[in-house]
Amino acid sequence: MQPHHVQRLAGVGQSIFTEMSALAVRTGSVNLGQGFPDADGPSSVIEMAVEAARTGHNQYAPGIGTPELRQAVAAHQREQYGMELDPDTEVIATTGCTEAIAASILGLIEPGDEVVLLEPYYDSYAAMLQVAGAVRRPVTLHAPDFRLDLDALRAAVTDRTRFLLLNTPHNPTGTVLSREELSAIAELAIAHDVTVITDEVYEHLTFDDRVHVPIASLPGMFERTLTLSSVGKSWSLTGWKVGWTSGPAHLVASAMNAKQWLSFTSGAPLQPAVAYALEHEVDFTRKLAADLQRGRDLLCEGLRAAGLSPTVPQGTYFTSTDISHLGWEDGLAFCRALPERAGVVAVPMQGFYDTDAGRHLVRWAFCKDPAVLEEGVARLTRADLAR
Ligand code: GLN
Repeated sequence: MQPHHVQRLAGVGQSIFTEMSALAVRTGSVNLGQGFPDADGPSSVIEMAVEAARTGHNQYAPGIGTPELRQAVAAHQREQYGMELDPDTEVIATTGCTEAIAASILGLIEPGDEVVLLEPYYDSYAAMLQVAGAVRRPVTLHAPDFRLDLDALRAAVTDRTRFLLLNTPHNPTGTVLSREELSAIAELAIAHDVTVITDEVYEHLTFDDRVHVPIASLPGMFERTLTLSSVGKSWSLTGWKVGWTSGPAHLVASAMNAKQWLSFTSGAPLQPAVAYALEHEVDFTRKLAADLQRGRDLLCEGLRAAGLSPTVPQGTYFTSTDISHLGWEDGLAFCRALPERAGVVAVPMQGFYDTDAGRHLVRWAFCKDPAVLEEGVARLTRADLAR
């Protein structure tokens, strides 16, 4: 029998990451699709989680997160960005950043509220905005450089806009918004009294001396911004699903109001370990960023050798290519054919758009062992990719 999808999720379908990772397993392909690293995070952090499980941290943690984790998030925001947070009222733990996104959207956004967001976007934004009954107003980051067009943003943000959903460093384009761009966004948010929800899950993973700036650290922005992040990407622990949300107490309380009905509380033995990562293993993220930059260069060079023109991202795990010159009408068809053609899996970007601007775009992950990237590139170079 066909599953019945409720109206709230009509048209949303299965996440493309699920489809493409299953395709990689089924076909034995090199998986350059879903963004997860081959190498695990710091062993000190993993040992802490084992120790916590062995020493009785196995029952429900407080719903808002353990005091140690909330304090560690506050200390991290202070040390990295000079922001002062009250760990008791301005920070909560979540089950990954994906739950932080869901809790923020479901806890704050009313049906009919207009939300301006960057497209392409992480697919869960669109799904959760639809469930919340929000009206999406996408602003397109156009290939090949994927910079933010501030005039397009100014045209999209009006007095009807209630929320701005940001993501920097940006998945899937790798764009890192500069301080100047963020200042212009902040000016708009303040002028139109807009609340900002910002996903900064790749905050430590920037390249070529680019720095990540949290929009909440700009003048006048803290009181109107919820900042979301997680341990998954920056500490190579994507399967742990521990994240956090910070901001002024009234916004954090609204997110918590929804979070309690989603997961109630997040993984107890993982929280002391994540607190440790934030306090003692920030250096890991710097080394990871340097490794990723080498992975980026290796993959981009390989994609060029295979006849593609990859963008050179400033952060994240991903680069992207336009495949239209190969005669393909859409990226989804290309990605579904790629395992058979080349033994490689990538992710089509069209599902990350409300408009048609991503139809010919394909995302490739470089958060993999160099040997895996080399094998993927060798397979692509050998293959006939033309339609
Ligand atoms: N954020 C990761 C990506 O963009 C994976 C997310 C997921 O699988 N839901 O690939």
